[in-house]
Amino acid sequence: MATIPWLVDVLRAAGVQVVVEGDWLNRMRPGDFNPIGVLWHHTASTSSATNPHPALNICINGRPDLAGPLCQALVDYHGVFHVISAGRCNHAGVSGGSGPIPAGDGNTLMIGWEIDYNGVDQEMTAAQYNASVAATAAVLTRLGRDASYARGHRETSTTGKIDPSFIDLDVMRADVAAKMGGGTAWSSIVDNTTAGRFTASAAWGVSTYSGQRYGADYRYADPVAVSDPAWYRFNVPAAGNYRVDAWWPANSGYNSATPYIVATTTGNRTVYVDQRVTGGQWRTLGTFALPAGDANRVAVSRWSSASGLVIADAVRLTRV
Ligand SMILES: [Zn+2]
Repeated sequence: MATIPWLVDVLRAAGVQVVVEGDWLNRMRPGDFNPIGVLWHHTASTSSATNPHPALNICINGRPDLAGPLCQALVDYHGVFHVISAGRCNHAGVSGGSGPIPAGDGNTLMIGWEIDYNGVDQEMTAAQYNASVAATAAVLTRLGRDASYARGHRETSTTGKIDPSFIDLDVMRADVAAKMGGGTAWSSIVDNTTAGRFTASAAWGVSTYSGQRYGADYRYADPVAVSDPAWYRFNVPAAGNYRVDAWWPANSGYNSATPYIVATTTGNRTVYVDQRVTGGQWRTLGTFALPAGDANRVAVSRWSSASGLVIADAVRLTRV
């Protein structure tokens, strides 16, 4: 395979928004290109709603020390895929080997997404994450590879790359696998807006402030040493082990030790998370034994010793 001229069609068929950037079918580096996987990067540029793709020009044209194109697609702040190249690009350098991706020429082996966020004090947006999961699933399906062929640059790099920051790559692969339909495990999501499945007192405000929110909005409350949890109710199909994931928007003003309570078969278990970081994606709280039945199963507690707002957005259970 010398090129992947199917890329735009495959992305659009997966519901990913695409902008074609000029002569993408003929813009590429010379050399071999036989991709077997997908590599995630961040650009290190600060994007925003009004400046959604600050690194686009560099990804197309390169920079003085590295000739463009620098990726097959750039993912902007809104989750739009800007498709730059159907061929080999300078994104991966040498692969040291990671999972099923062997050591070798990373630019031959992998298709690269440059996700436009700075990775230091800015995380990936929820729109970027969801679009990148959908695009990765669609491309790996086209390549005939499973989700283990999705990697992060920090996993394959031999030169100490850190990208993509703030992302748990094992959770990313689990989300890609779920999108590919590879798993038939029971899974259920309760958002703070899910009818009949979320309860919280009037002390919990409603916010749309962060673009990392799951769904329309999320709930927030001041930390306080009283029992006033927000509860998520699930209809657990059978007693067994379930992975519990939580999604929150992150902000420097949010709580660094937010308690999540999981009501297990052997009593309540509490897991503390730092809601100042790693927002806009599923984060695993752990795997717990749960009883069957329809009941309040996971809560966000306000009883935190740390300052900053506690956030209740979405919770996901998956049978393992
Ligand atoms: Zn990179």
